[in-house]
Amino acid sequence: MKLAILDRDGVINEDSDDFIKSPDEWIPIPGSLEAIARLNHAGYRVVVASNQSGLARGLFDIDGLNAIHQKMFDELAKLGGHIDSVFFCPHGPEDHCDCRKPRPGLLKAIADRLELDLAGIPAIGDSLRDLQAAAGAGAEPMLVLTGKGSKTLSKLEDFGDVPVYPNLAAAVDALLPEA
Ligand SMILES: [Mg+2]
Ligand SMILES: [Zn+2]
Repeated sequence: MKLAILDRDGVINEDSDDFIKSPDEWIPIPGSLEAIARLNHAGYRVVVASNQSGLARGLFDIDGLNAIHQKMFDELAKLGGHIDSVFFCPHGPEDHCDCRKPRPGLLKAIADRLELDLAGIPAIGDSLRDLQAAAGAGAEPMLVLTGKGSKTLSKLEDFGDVPVYPNLAAAVDALLPEA
């Protein structure tokens, strides 16, 4: 199975320090939805793994999160793209759950659900914790410079070598053979 695991905020849509609390605040990064559609057309399943501590913080509820994701699915569908599912951590930093990245639980849940090993599976994120979760789950971390990506570059010494791309579109270019 060809699979790509994507972080959401800062990879697919513009990030915000104030959290993405409503569909109106969910703004796709130029080229990101097209990139997901290109992955699909090349035979990739795409799943999202996202920390959503705004739930634990009471900034939005599950209906609000579903509405945000419906906008993402609708805009993607217009381009012929599809996200299989969104795995999210609803907890806050104080909850000490296993699913909040940098812990690997969210990605391990994806591996369990799809019954596959994550070795060689690209996991694309903009934060150090995305890369750490990917590595912890045995996937292949990739960094994009959108969202928090530029800040993450300065923290990579603690992490090690990882491929870096300007944005999701460029990361997908690297994943897919030349058309
Ligand atoms: Mg992010
Ligand atoms: Zn969690």
